[in-house]
Amino acid sequence: MADCIFCKIVDGSIPSKKAYEDDKILAFYDLEPQAPVHVLVIPKQHISCANDIDDTNCDVVAHIFSKIPEIAKLLGLENGYRIVNNCGDDGCQSVKHMHFHLLGGKKLSGQMA
Ligand code: AMP
Repeated sequence: MADCIFCKIVDGSIPSKKAYEDDKILAFYDLEPQAPVHVLVIPKQHISCANDIDDTNCDVVAHIFSKIPEIAKLLGLENGYRIVNNCGDDGCQSVKHMHFHLLGGKKLSGQMA
């Protein structure tokens, strides 16, 4: 989608440090990490937010979650991690291309909100 920075990361016109890629999804390091390991996992197809998941696109969401254990292992997150999805204004979603934050590398805060 034009003007979507994560679509531009997918097509390579904005650079990223990739952690994992296949034909459907991409994982890359967050520019402003909030934990020692902070990677974003995104579908290559544009889905604006979790609210736009439906029967036509939920396969890629399942694929993301099927690959997260492998990505976490690649990142050395054997001791656990947190997956975060921010959706919409109240969720403080700043990039309108659905993404899952994969955070770890230390004992994370028990606070979620
Ligand atoms: P959210 O607030 O959930 O929408 O998260 C968006 C995330 O994207 C933030 O953690 C940003 O630091 C991250 N981000 C924005 N632009 C880039 C970029 N070009 N490369 C990597 N991460 C980015």
